[in-house]
Amino acid sequence: MNADVSLVVGLQRLDQRIAELRREIAILPEHIATIEKTLDQQLRRVEAGRAAVSANQKDRKRLEEEIKIQEQKISKLRDQMLQAKTNDQYRAFQNEISFCETAIRSAEDRILDLMSESDPLEKAVRTAEAGLKQKQAMVDAEKREAEQKTATDRAALQDLDREREQAVVRITPSIYRAYERIRKKRHGTGVSEVLDGRCGACNMALRPQVLQDLRKGEEVLYCEVCGRMLYVVPAESFEDQIEAPPGAASSSPTGV
Ligand SMILES: [Zn+2]
Repeated sequence: MNADVSLVVGLQRLDQRIAELRREIAILPEHIATIEKTLDQQLRRVEAGRAAVSANQKDRKRLEEEIKIQEQKISKLRDQMLQAKTNDQYRAFQNEISFCETAIRSAEDRILDLMSESDPLEKAVRTAEAGLKQKQAMVDAEKREAEQKTATDRAALQDLDREREQAVVRITPSIYRAYERIRKKRHGTGVSEVLDGRCGACNMALRPQVLQDLRKGEEVLYCEVCGRMLYVVPAESFEDQIEAPPGAASSSPTGV
């Protein structure tokens, strides 16, 4: 392999690891936000449960107040009843009293209902609160893990950046610039391995002359379609590629 191309292949490997680390570091805040969102759901469950318990208590209080008012009304009616002059008046007071008594009974029934509803509601709140606590611990642990991972990634990235600087100075500047140009244009791949006589990146079949020149390793060659630098791995695998009978080692036609 051409010495520069061989260095560029190593550089590309570094660049791919760098890109992967950068991606990992970049998605981390999003990952943490997603984790925290699951906490929101649990928090809303707790809040809804607490609101239901408090509404239940409020309703009971309101009904108890209503019973008190009805009782006061009854006692006032009883006083007035003592001064009734006619049977009709007496019956009218009695009707009003029994109306108040019905209202009290219905309020009492409703209070009993609310009391029996209150236990499950309170239990639901306790369950939701326990769930929230558990989830919070999980989220905290996941966040810590994610932050640790970022710190590790950042340190690894620094090492790789240093390694890259050292790799770059060994490459002929014009070849390095060409690699950078192609890499930026071609989604991070500036140099492509030849597989089965084809450019491994764009799959274009290469002319036999190009394959032969590549094998010699004297000059830097580029794919005529995607423009990437080309390389073949070891010499014997290159021999395999052109001399193997069709279909012997590969499922795709070699085109050579
Ligand atoms: Zn290509």
